[in-house]
Amino acid sequence: MIFTLASGNAHKAKEFAGLFPSEVLEVTVAPRKIEVVEDGLTFRENALKKAKAYFDELAVPVMSDDSGLVVSALPNELGIHTARFGGEGLSATERNDHLLKRLADLGEPERDAYFICVLCFYLSPQEFFFFEGRLNGKISTVQLGSEGFGYDPIFLPNKAPEGRSLAEIPDWKEQNSHRALACKAAIKFFQERIGQN
Ligand code: IMP
Repeated sequence: MIFTLASGNAHKAKEFAGLFPSEVLEVTVAPRKIEVVEDGLTFRENALKKAKAYFDELAVPVMSDDSGLVVSALPNELGIHTARFGGEGLSATERNDHLLKRLADLGEPERDAYFICVLCFYLSPQEFFFFEGRLNGKISTVQLGSEGFGYDPIFLPNKAPEGRSLAEIPDWKEQNSHRALACKAAIKFFQERIGQN
């Protein structure tokens, strides 16, 4: 099955491309970016909005995602607002610095966080499916590494090799991220569905 990715984010497109075995699911880049106002109250609502907008415009099966970082010490500030944390127009490095400053007084036990990814596979207005993946970790005290994107340099996954940030371990991220976990759930679902037909 071929789905068009409802995103203009090249980093995400690259990560998704490596996550789907083409015999089950193939995700291709959209021919153009469609602006979608992400004003939903949940990750699901935003993923559905993006999927629907691309489906309405392109009339093909669409896969969308909505993702974010949830920081337990700042419960209402990131989450669905992650992309705008700290204000509009900041670079990723500036946003990371802003978060590090906000957490400066907190010790390790209070720096818990997780990344979440919600995928929406939208085949038609009558048929769409959601899948979720989470990656638990902690926010570091300094930025580490230069791979990946967004908050990768300040996120230390609990199960990653010793104290490494996501920006230092792209191969590990590819297999274990919130995005990878959501994709694995989707692949399992569609594999079973194909097997039933
Ligand atoms: P959206 O899903 O495009 O709305 O992105 C939400 C925000 O979460 C963006 O600011 C991203 O930088 C951040 N984000 C989502 N996934 C990741 C990731 O894998 N690494 C780092 N930041 C991420």
